[in-house]
Amino acid sequence: MAKSNIEWTEMTWNPTTGCNKISAGCKYCYAEVMAKRLKGMGLPKYKNGFKITLHEDTLSIPFTWKKPKMVFVNSMSDLFHKDIPISFIKKVFKTMNQNTQHIFQVLTKRSDRLTQISNKVKWTKNIWMGVTVENSIMLNRIEDLKSINAYLKFISCEPLIGPLSSLNLNGIDWVIVGGESGRSPRMMKKEWILEIQRTCDYYKTPFFFKQWGGRSKKKSGRLLDGKTYCEMPLNIAS
Ligand code: SF4
Repeated sequence: MAKSNIEWTEMTWNPTTGCNKISAGCKYCYAEVMAKRLKGMGLPKYKNGFKITLHEDTLSIPFTWKKPKMVFVNSMSDLFHKDIPISFIKKVFKTMNQNTQHIFQVLTKRSDRLTQISNKVKWTKNIWMGVTVENSIMLNRIEDLKSINAYLKFISCEPLIGPLSSLNLNGIDWVIVGGESGRSPRMMKKEWILEIQRTCDYYKTPFFFKQWGGRSKKKSGRLLDGKTYCEMPLNIAS
């Protein structure tokens, strides 16, 4: 577990590590770069680099947090990757189910496997389930998300690399937008962000603008027309 600099969460918990690229949004995967770096530094948890690895020993960690936390699950992996057995995914859910004092934010690009497994796990209210939608080719992930039984559903449009003109946010509780950062980031157009923001307004869906991204994400910041947008799902306190 680690404190996180990600603006929409407090900390990360990685019961699995490793992944492989599945769509355009993965091109400059931060987790891959970090996993290789941590392997190079000799961290035992990353001895397999970016190969899928299960960490049984981490399953009990959320029981040890004294105060309620908001936790991004698997910032270094994708919980619904095909090589993560259902039996292990169930264990991760069991930990989340037994720690309802914490909010667990799970984000996947494997929405097809999410739909296959959804009925085999228990969706307590503290599990926020999200899919990444980086461009309009990935809109089907939203339909997959809508079809499952999670109480709170969100989409993360990061890195936003194309317009999302026909977003239907019925049943979606939260939208995060962010640009790509790194050495050669793909450009995010302001008009794409504003269009998503207008759609959120229309559906009354909370809108969170994470960052502009770019080569120096600190420099480019997170102001949109002079304002920060950090809206969160309304039932956050329930
Ligand atoms: S799904 Fe996520 S963790 Fe996996 S390669 Fe893509 S960006 Fe990286």
